Amino acid sequence: MKQYILALDQGTTSSRAILFDSAHNILSSAQREFTQYYPQSGWVEQDPLEIWSTQYAVMTEAINRSGIDPHDIAAIGISNQRETTIMWDRKTGLPVCNAIVWQCRRTAPIVDELISRGLSEAIHDATGLIPDAYFSGTKIRWILDNVPGVREKAENGDVLFGTVDTWLIWKLTEGHVHATDLTNASRTMIFNIHTLDWDDRLLRELDIPRAILPEVRPSIHYFGYTSLLGADIPIAGVAGDQQAALFGQGCFSAGSAKNTYGTGCFLLFNTGAVPVESKNGLLATIACSPDGHVQYALEGSVFCGGSVVQWLRDELRFFESSADSEAVASSVPDTGGVYLVPAFTGIGAPYWDMYARGCIVGLTRGTGRAQIVRASLEAIAYQICDLMEAMENDTGSSLSELNVDGGASANNFLMQFQADILGKTVSRPPVMETTAMGAAFLAGLCTGVWKDAGELTAHICDAHRHFIPEMPSDRRQALLQGWHRAVGRSRGWAKPEPY
Ligand code: ADP
Repeated sequence: MKQYILALDQGTTSSRAILFDSAHNILSSAQREFTQYYPQSGWVEQDPLEIWSTQYAVMTEAINRSGIDPHDIAAIGISNQRETTIMWDRKTGLPVCNAIVWQCRRTAPIVDELISRGLSEAIHDATGLIPDAYFSGTKIRWILDNVPGVREKAENGDVLFGTVDTWLIWKLTEGHVHATDLTNASRTMIFNIHTLDWDDRLLRELDIPRAILPEVRPSIHYFGYTSLLGADIPIAGVAGDQQAALFGQGCFSAGSAKNTYGTGCFLLFNTGAVPVESKNGLLATIACSPDGHVQYALEGSVFCGGSVVQWLRDELRFFESSADSEAVASSVPDTGGVYLVPAFTGIGAPYWDMYARGCIVGLTRGTGRAQIVRASLEAIAYQICDLMEAMENDTGSSLSELNVDGGASANNFLMQFQADILGKTVSRPPVMETTAMGAAFLAGLCTGVWKDAGELTAHICDAHRHFIPEMPSDRRQALLQGWHRAVGRSRGWAKPEPY
């Protein structure tokens, strides 16, 4: 039986491909970075052809390195950077302009206009999202309005829109399939997460023709075949990166959650068959489901996660490599009452204060580098703790264990402090490639490499490292109280009026 799965992990800065076997082992992998374009302040673009050429190169590289026969690959799974918007000519297959990347702020005025027309609630009710320039809807509108000739072609159905998964499926199937999956669709701000269809009202309000939109399929689905890799291989699993990581962590059912500690942090909490409406500014989004029933998640993000460590490294020059932060923080028993609030670009859920700015409080003559490094790592954990509390309030349920992944989850000090401050076990998988793993799981479930979620879980539970909470509860309460006072000091700092 065919037993290998090729997972494509198309990220914001690089394209990667990882070949897994049915026992979840990595046979080979390959990675290539691609160019980021910043044509104006706040604008971020990528070249769709370079996204594709790097993705194609790493696929073939990973297969060649492994030495396996492409005929033994059961399926391809795709996970991708979400929300990034690509439009291309149906006939020539050429992009009409660069991809507008999720971080790009150029459409903030379009979002402001939607809000001023009183559409916030309609957007939130239909899509589960809070109106923002991150999501694809306003990016599509911008291209239709600003790239000459695109609007007319779109009305005739000669231009297509896709998120990055859709673009890769189109290229892999050589222009035969124009489709996306539910998780990626749920990040566009034009998809109704209740009816599971593009939302006619929002399409009207944004003046986007339906003809350009891809078909929406479940994450586990035969999307089409590619013949580009030396065999006919089905594309059988697709999900946005955060949802793929949730799935790759084995969070298949309601009540499970994962946090990814990257540049920022993304906490996703599986809420099962029902989308939960947040009272704390969290997003409702579609999660991958192992069995064909739609599942939802609550999502919260922290703007400044691992990037506070980069700041200590690159701006303050406190150490050479991010990993050194662990030894420096562990060299002191505590921060000596110091708190650092890394609100460099404001602070998100549950505070939502875009005028907050970073601060360090509680400094004494004895404060040194180690205390500040320790306070920075602790701040990452405090922010996750605040998000978790908001999620537990919204869902009315309490989580027993948090699954973790992402670059900064390698930091044992941070993981132990996270467990202590949450009062919950933190569980870290031995293979931290959970995003690619999630894409592989989806494709493998579709093609019968694994028969069901139970079979996957049996493997996943092996060899996790568990960080068990050890901190006495009164200490925990005192630290959290200090953190909340520190956040209070950071709030409103950048407000134009004096106070
Ligand atoms: P992204 O996918 O957002 O680029 P990664 O998952 O690769 O992020 O994680 C990179 C981030 O994690 C960086 O901000 C880096 O400073 C931080 N990081 C990496 N290793 C460690 C470590 N051992 N301790 C603390 N932070 C780390």
